[in-house]
Amino acid sequence: MSRLSHIDTWIFDLDNTLYPPSIKLFDQIAARMNDMIMARMGVSLAEATRLRQGYFRKYGTTLRGLMMEHGWEPTAFLDYVHEIDYGPVEHHPALGEAIAALPGRKLIFTAGTRPHARNVLARLGCESVFEEIFDITDCHFIPKPDARPYEIFLKRHAVKPETAAFFEDIPDNLIVPRALGMVTVLVGNEDAALLPAHVDYVTADLAGFLDGVLK
Ligand SMILES: [Mg+2]
Repeated sequence: MSRLSHIDTWIFDLDNTLYPPSIKLFDQIAARMNDMIMARMGVSLAEATRLRQGYFRKYGTTLRGLMMEHGWEPTAFLDYVHEIDYGPVEHHPALGEAIAALPGRKLIFTAGTRPHARNVLARLGCESVFEEIFDITDCHFIPKPDARPYEIFLKRHAVKPETAAFFEDIPDNLIVPRALGMVTVLVGNEDAALLPAHVDYVTADLAGFLDGVLK
């Protein structure tokens, strides 16, 4: 873990990084996106699903596609799609303790909203661990992996990338952090032998990995 000994700023994605994708929280959000697209556009579930997935692929978030191609206003959409059951997010005190013990600042960088992040963090038991939450509104609704939200984030929080580490479940979202000089950690089950060059570490056990950083 010697490559992490100089880190003083710890940046974490939220969804599927601080909790596992197996709890399928995003499936609940996707279902509500489908509902809203069906209701507003008068399309079938199949068409709403096609639009949602297509915009996600093309623009990085479904919302961005709806804003760019249909002029949707983001706030009502974001409020509606995050009215979900947070029960599946399990209390994880070991994760909170591992993050709290890291030397320096701990920040969240999410393509979700601040209220959504707070709901997830409250369920995990990590609500007091993070200094700041940087959300999709702060990004002006331009999601990762576009370089622009990272620039806004670095400036706003006076982060020096050369002493920062970025934790993410989506490999492409680590391209810009690595190019800026951050240490990159992919959270997931990917095969270490098949990782792209911009990923420094991979772990399926974030709390265990962070405990190892301090040893
Ligand atoms: Mg994520």
